[in-house]
Amino acid sequence: MTANRELDDILRRAADGGRISPEEALLLYTDAPFHALGEAADTVRRRRYPDNIVTYIIDRNINYTNVCVTACKFCAFFRAPKHEEGWSHPTEEILRRCGEAVDLGATQVMLQGGHHPDYGVEYYETLFSAVKAAYPDLVIHSIGPSEVLHMSKVSGVSIEESIRRIKAAGLDSIAGAGAEMLPERPRTAIAPLKESGARWLEVMEIAHNLGVESTATMMMGTGETNAERIEHITMIRDVQDRTGGFRSFIPWTYQPENNHLKGRTQATNLEYLRFVAVARLFFDNVAHLQSSWLTTGKDVGQLSLHMGVDDLGSIMLEENVISSAGARHRSKLTELVSMIRGADRTPAQRDTLYRHLKVHWTPADDPTDERVVSHFSSIALPGGGAGGRTALSVIDAQ
Ligand code: SF4
Repeated sequence: MTANRELDDILRRAADGGRISPEEALLLYTDAPFHALGEAADTVRRRRYPDNIVTYIIDRNINYTNVCVTACKFCAFFRAPKHEEGWSHPTEEILRRCGEAVDLGATQVMLQGGHHPDYGVEYYETLFSAVKAAYPDLVIHSIGPSEVLHMSKVSGVSIEESIRRIKAAGLDSIAGAGAEMLPERPRTAIAPLKESGARWLEVMEIAHNLGVESTATMMMGTGETNAERIEHITMIRDVQDRTGGFRSFIPWTYQPENNHLKGRTQATNLEYLRFVAVARLFFDNVAHLQSSWLTTGKDVGQLSLHMGVDDLGSIMLEENVISSAGARHRSKLTELVSMIRGADRTPAQRDTLYRHLKVHWTPADDPTDERVVSHFSSIALPGGGAGGRTALSVIDAQ
């Protein structure tokens, strides 16, 4: 209960599973007392997941190239074509990394990269079919709408044809990458050469209608307004009403190093946690909410579990893109599980479809493999792989 009758009514309706409007979401975001907001969001989580389970996944982000023609201002990962630090991994190297991931228990790979001027649909067909031939059980949850649009343009085919062909080659689902901020003003300010937010959603809608589900993300903190943050989730919710194809929503905070946008991140931890809770209340049609310990840190990641979050994402056996822009947080599987347990939740390893693979009902069931640790092999960080032919470096998980 709060001292404000209007806020109380909205919180109660949302906690009961009712739909709230974008205007009501904005009011909650700016005015609702923090604890009341978290309590309402956690009520939704408990109703959806009465087993009190919080999931995680073991996966690896593998970047096939950092060469990109799109030059987003916030991106510290890409290099322009012909830049001396540009690289592309051969298929054998990508398969080697997939093999390492499988050995460590990964069930999913996120193959992502820049918009290489030569990479059309044929490149992705070759890559995905090679991964599936070598590791048939490894789920390819990869690329994003931007890559789909780019490959369609390079190959001169429709979006539908691209998705049909890469699905036939082995793509299982599309990552929510590249959403950044979907509303036009903030998107144009940070990624003027990228497709519009409407186009990003159009690709997702086509994919969902072709049976390829996805996740949806949001990057907070590059100068967008509170109203634009709410507009972003409204655009996603509208598509979800038609397709039901977004499995989860994953907000994360912009990292300000090594890019052309510069500046300090403008999303504070409190703003992040409040937004996570509002997202849980707003998305009555999206099943899962994942928080980002990678960009906000493990403490905030654990706190988010009290704000409606039911999934802590991945240990990230490899991550290069966000770490290039300054994310320094690292973890290991045993630590991720104790973060979940420390929030009084039951940890469970999930697959891409959020099915439970292993539920750690008691601490005696907790995983003990200390090899499952975050890594990087970034070109932009000291000690990074500079082309990535070397074995992954292990990061101190403290
Ligand atoms: S965010 Fe993606 S599309 Fe934008 S510059 Fe970086 S690699 Fe290219």
